[in-house]
Amino acid sequence: MTHTLTILGSTGSIGQSTLDVVARHPDRYLVHALTGHTRIAELAEQCRRFSPARAIVATTADAQALRRLLDASAQERAIQIDHGPEALCEVAAEADYVMAAIVGAAGLPSAMAAARAGRRVLLANKEALVMAGALFMDAVATAGATLLPIDSEHNAIFQCMPVSTSGALEAADQRVSRVLLTASGGPFRTMPVERMSDVTPAQACAHPNWSMGRKISVDSATMMNKGLEVIEACWLFGITPDRIDVVIHPQSVIHSMVEYVDGSVLAQMGNPDMRTPIAHALAYPERIASGVRPLDLAAVGRLDFEKPDLVRFPCLDLAYHALRSGGGAPAILNAANEIAVGAFLEGRIRFTAIAQVVEQVLENVAAEVPRSLDDVLALDQVARVRAIEVVRVAKGDRSPSQRIAASF
Ligand code: NDP
Ligand code: MG
Repeated sequence: MTHTLTILGSTGSIGQSTLDVVARHPDRYLVHALTGHTRIAELAEQCRRFSPARAIVATTADAQALRRLLDASAQERAIQIDHGPEALCEVAAEADYVMAAIVGAAGLPSAMAAARAGRRVLLANKEALVMAGALFMDAVATAGATLLPIDSEHNAIFQCMPVSTSGALEAADQRVSRVLLTASGGPFRTMPVERMSDVTPAQACAHPNWSMGRKISVDSATMMNKGLEVIEACWLFGITPDRIDVVIHPQSVIHSMVEYVDGSVLAQMGNPDMRTPIAHALAYPERIASGVRPLDLAAVGRLDFEKPDLVRFPCLDLAYHALRSGGGAPAILNAANEIAVGAFLEGRIRFTAIAQVVEQVLENVAAEVPRSLDDVLALDQVARVRAIEVVRVAKGDRSPSQRIAASF
């Protein structure tokens, strides 16, 4: 049976990997909509190759640019081109399957629209659950949507959890004692701590095992990514933070584990390639080829494990703090982090200032419990404004090389 598929954020790292898997199974998936934000030429190329019914971009000018690029290449199928956040929500509600792979808070409304429409939601956008976990899980339950995690750790946990009678994702029951969330430790796991204030965006984005978008690469380098993932796991699997342990595993071969009350620990393994969780969620409960190389354990040689260092990685601690505070604190954490990471990538603050910005914003914005999506988005805006102010102050904290690189 063929399923229609919308890919929100098709021009990104996850979006491209999704299309790579889809191209291997043209009989199973019919691309309904593709969406991009800045990479219009790449979106045009994807449109030519996959002939979606619809394509969504950010602005009228982008829509015109995409139209021109497509007209120049005598497209067989007429593609409807629209722009803006509402159009993203429309295409999210229209297809059988929706890959939610827009980065950051910008991905929340369309991921929510897919959940509310009762679709199969393949959730890569972890920020949606961090910002609006309760509302998102409610929408999934109310609309009878099928939620499948794409984040490799959560996909691994899902694969290691007891099989539910419905086959759907369910809260962990009393058979499960603990979830072991693995983390690579990123590019700065062994760097002397005193050198971390001078690392550059290029160094932070050079992840040792995974090839990803720039925002999540920086999150991996600060380990904020693992903090966001702890919050994500709590919502997805209905578990409390005390039942989640983060373990550093530099080889990224074990993608996470589930421990049972009898002492059994089940792990999901594989080469670090996002096409595995993407293929798993696309085909679930069946299995399809993903193009991922078979795992050669002899070549890997050894699997190492260590405890995370919270002095080196204060962002992980801040995420735990926000999670325990509850209410709107995780949404504030997320917004502050997005602003701080953006500022670091633009050379405006040091790497080590990211945690400082997040901490100050968490201390200064009231974490009221959001009751609606609008509440979440309003809180996100307040936290962003505060974070921008904190960044402005922190700007004086630049390293000499960054000061030269910066344009002011
Ligand atoms: P990328 O930066 O590579 O891609 C992001 C996508 O979102 C692009 O298609 C981009 O468009 C689009 N986009 C960016 N801003 C907006 C906006 N304001 N409105 C609409 N679309 C926008 O990110 P990744 O693919 O790496 O990550 C996507 C999500 O998946 C993130 O939430 C990340 O945390 C999560 N994830 C990613 C993993 C990975 O391996 N990459 C692993 C696990 C989770 P354009 O490129 O055209 O500007
Ligand atoms: Mg992950």
